[in-house]
Amino acid sequence: MTMDDVSANGASGPVIGVPGYWHESEAILGNISTAVPDSYIRALLKSGAVPLIIPVIPSTKVLAQLFRMIDGLLLIGGPDLDPVHYHQQPVRGLRKITPPRDAVEIQVTRWALEADLPILAICRGIQVLNVAEGGTLWQDIASPLPDAEKHDYYPDHPEDFLAHNVKLHAGSRLARIVGDADLAVNSLHHQAIDRLGVGLFPVAHSPDGIIEAVEGAANRWIIGVQWHPEWLIETDSRMAALFHAFCEVCIDRGKTGLPTQVVRQ
Ligand code: MN
Repeated sequence: MTMDDVSANGASGPVIGVPGYWHESEAILGNISTAVPDSYIRALLKSGAVPLIIPVIPSTKVLAQLFRMIDGLLLIGGPDLDPVHYHQQPVRGLRKITPPRDAVEIQVTRWALEADLPILAICRGIQVLNVAEGGTLWQDIASPLPDAEKHDYYPDHPEDFLAHNVKLHAGSRLARIVGDADLAVNSLHHQAIDRLGVGLFPVAHSPDGIIEAVEGAANRWIIGVQWHPEWLIETDSRMAALFHAFCEVCIDRGKTGLPTQVVRQ
């Protein structure tokens, strides 16, 4: 690549913000890295997007500047949200929490909602989305819902293990993208949506009634899924189609320059 290529500002995809998290080195104690699993990056690149990793930083001002660069927001999987964000005390079964990450993700999600930016939210992401909209979570599915099936197929199963089916709501945005037929999905979560956030609608359930996907009102491109499509894009073209649809709508959004105009500091 020459400097001409760098400065040409030629073909470029939509910039997708991906909040990362702190990963501590096992070799050097206390050495923290910002991480985003490569499976998400690969899924975005395959759809022609330009990933922009958003670090866990305490400065709202820096965060806002990063936010103005993006055309869409991808919220990724991870550990439990601190239940303080949905006004609950921790209950038995709550696992590891990461408050600095919560703060960044909830902030950028609220900005994205305010700016009407497209959002694709995966696993922990659907939970962040729901909480940012005022909803609540089951802190540990098995405790309040003993009849629910097993959803936490980790760490002793491959990440693409198809754990259960989900039934899609016909006519939903998600069903228009992936089709009306049931999906066989992976399942690496022990929490799930309890009370829905404002403006979110359930569009897929597992056979035991757990909410497995939500979306925003018809005019807003917001989709959250409880499973991990980024690990299934090579084996199920419908999962790749979901990333593709997200990146397509972000291209259109990028042309309007909307985030720059709307976000206030
Ligand atoms: Mn599940």
